[in-house]
Amino acid sequence: MPAKLEDYEELAVRPDLFDDQNHIIGAEDCPFCGSDKVVVIMRVYDVDPTTYYIPACDNCSCYGPISETLEKAIETWNKRY
Ligand SMILES: [Zn+2]
Repeated sequence: MPAKLEDYEELAVRPDLFDDQNHIIGAEDCPFCGSDKVVVIMRVYDVDPTTYYIPACDNCSCYGPISETLEKAIETWNKRY
């Protein structure tokens, strides 16, 4: 399991997608524990300075597919890839 980044501040650029606790609005409940506390981890890889978005459950720490956009991350989480 990856460590969660503390850096949620950047998510403030899309306040429409998050509630006041940084949980994704519109994300399906966690497929493993049923929690609705789904967050997005942002990660930048050294070899490739692109920001990737990884949906993750704030309750059980499972995580979803890596996406290059926030919208895609939420979409793929909801599709259960
Ligand atoms: Zn969970």
